[in-house]
Amino acid sequence: MTTAIGGSILTVDLTAVAANFHELANRARPAECGAVVKADAYGLGAGVVARALFSAGCRTFFVATIEEASAFRKDSGLDAASRLFVLNGIDLGDAGAAANLGAIPVLNDLDAVKGWAAVARRSGHRIGVALHLDTGMNRLGLSQGDTAALIADPTDLAALEIELVLSHLACSEENANPLNRTQRERFVMWLRGLPQARASLANSSGIFLGPEYHFDLVRPGVALYGVNPLPDRPNPMREVVQIKGKIVQVRDVDRGETVGYGAAHIATRPTRIATVAVGYADGFPRALSNRGYGYLAKARVPLVGRVSMDLTTFDVTDAAPVDAIPGNYIDVLGGLLPIDELAHAAGTIGYEILTRLGRRYRRVYRGTERDA
Ligand SMILES: *Cc1c(COP(=O)(O)O)cnc(C)c1O
Repeated sequence: MTTAIGGSILTVDLTAVAANFHELANRARPAECGAVVKADAYGLGAGVVARALFSAGCRTFFVATIEEASAFRKDSGLDAASRLFVLNGIDLGDAGAAANLGAIPVLNDLDAVKGWAAVARRSGHRIGVALHLDTGMNRLGLSQGDTAALIADPTDLAALEIELVLSHLACSEENANPLNRTQRERFVMWLRGLPQARASLANSSGIFLGPEYHFDLVRPGVALYGVNPLPDRPNPMREVVQIKGKIVQVRDVDRGETVGYGAAHIATRPTRIATVAVGYADGFPRALSNRGYGYLAKARVPLVGRVSMDLTTFDVTDAAPVDAIPGNYIDVLGGLLPIDELAHAAGTIGYEILTRLGRRYRRVYRGTERDA
């Protein structure tokens, strides 16, 4: 029994990210296509992904927090020529930092509107902000009552430069869900009462609801990174992420022996087990225990036993013996195993698979931005 030391490989295809951007931008035209790069570009590396998107023509980016805005500027090297919105808002105490970063706060309640208006008056010039209207998701943004109040008394708005008015769809991946139309109608109604500003409603799936959902700017995230924005229909996006799990050991297990923690798999025949250097600490879902699978040189190999912190075991009995050796790789994500399928098998969604990708992979960035 030999052992191969070394890491599993996570490949991020930046050419595919750029192609996905072009695909979405073409669909959205004449609306502008921005990009959501929060959570480190859904786990893929915001700096390098943002540079690839900028090269593809993207000029408007969204992160969730001021910390992410700071990392975005530092890691991407992109200056204020790229607009950067901070979706969760920015504390007033960070107004100076935000100005230095060229980070635009998204205002989600009336206190934020009042507070930023005061900052603007003190500074003697209007400050650029975005307004987030909650049109039915009931999660974040000005409630309908807040929006009505703001329209009734727009004094504070006069101190601000409204660069964008946005709202977010709750069910955009469900084409026929009536809440889409309801949210759109409410959005249009509130826009009429507010000062003239650019408007944005659609996330990835929202883009596919049609042009009446595009307004001036669309905000895709997950589709850029290869997740299917159209559940139950063929994926129009190109695959971005692949993981190759390195086989660190191969062993033969007698019939009746068990494999892994909890002895959760019992060999019902003489079984060859390949142990792979991927575990839940790498974001590989423990829920795949005894139900996932991988591919070893195109042969489907069942995941047997529990996914543990650093290791996962596969039954490679039926794979070619020449392939099932330490140092070879089992494809555990991508290719024959699309991210949406893996997520479904784990009882989750592609978003969660991406954002949990661990730090221990050897990361390989393919495409133009090789200097990552
Ligand atoms: C995360 C987010 C998006 C991107 O959503 P996807 O479904 O990943 O395209 C767009 N808008 C807002 C407000 C978000 O929070």
